[in-house]
Amino acid sequence: MLSVIIPSYNEEKCIKSAYNAIYSLLYENNIESEFIFVDDGSQDRTYEMIKELSEENNNVTGLHFSRNFGKESAISAGLSAINGDCAVVIDCDLQHPPEKIIEMYHLWEQGYEIVEGIKKARGREKKLHSIGAKIFYSAISRMAGFDMANSSDFKLLDRKVVEVLNRMPERGFFRAISYWVGYNKTTVEYDVKMRIDGESKWSTKGLVKYAISNISSYSTAPMQIVTALGSIMLIISAVLTVWTIIDKLVGRSIEGIPTVIIITIFIGSIIMISLGIIGYYIARIYEEIKGRPKYIISSFVKSNNNK
Ligand code: UDP
Ligand code: MG
Repeated sequence: MLSVIIPSYNEEKCIKSAYNAIYSLLYENNIESEFIFVDDGSQDRTYEMIKELSEENNNVTGLHFSRNFGKESAISAGLSAINGDCAVVIDCDLQHPPEKIIEMYHLWEQGYEIVEGIKKARGREKKLHSIGAKIFYSAISRMAGFDMANSSDFKLLDRKVVEVLNRMPERGFFRAISYWVGYNKTTVEYDVKMRIDGESKWSTKGLVKYAISNISSYSTAPMQIVTALGSIMLIISAVLTVWTIIDKLVGRSIEGIPTVIIITIFIGSIIMISLGIIGYYIARIYEEIKGRPKYIISSFVKSNNNK
């Protein structure tokens, strides 16, 4: 059985059409399925739609979060609730083409444990988003040491892999964590479609925050940059010291005040940036060490299987 995990945040208009589109396709291809909708604390009627769906059908589970915890948490919750032999994570807005699930499923049957969806074209997104995504992925690819460009959350995972992910306590980054675990992988390319309804839930500010938190969860390079900057500053100041002493000996020392000011400001700013970066990592350690749950499920519904 295939478990279809659909994180949904304010998607009242998309729930039923997503279910119908995906279910009919799986049914035609004789793939037994269950659907897990994770309502990430929506303010609209998303959860009511999921409830209706689970009454009308016999393979729908709905989890409702007590507030918005973010897509990553919604994916985690979905992964912990599967009963299938493999699971696919797909967006509710059908920007990930459902036909590809069939292709992924067949690859899984051939023995692949992770089938990654790779974006061929990035649909029509806001200009800033696509530039942002480009910078983000080239930075994180370089720092974290694997190619992240064009990867997405659209993936099919074998149950074994899901169990490994479920055992990881850290607040992960779903697309990267599935690289980290290893396993036998392959990819499927897809074109990003237009949303079927509603609007993207990402604000530019949200995307920037997401980028920073994900770079810091996969890489300590920013902290190493601090060390490197510090060393460069040390060398520069050594040179300047020698220079100042020579000036003093030659009797030219009064001018130089501007240099002092420039250096003070420069060092001050580097120290402040460095403290900021270190502080950021400490904040992350603090977040993890508190060990709070990644999400809170305030209610859930499950179809009656004997329908
Ligand atoms: N989503 C979520 N929680 C959030 C934001 C988004 O579960 O806080 C879901 C959303 O319902 C959708 C998927 O994540 O199924 C992708 O979101 P969206 O389409 O807004 O992002 P984009 O496609 O623009 O990257
Ligand atoms: Mg979308």
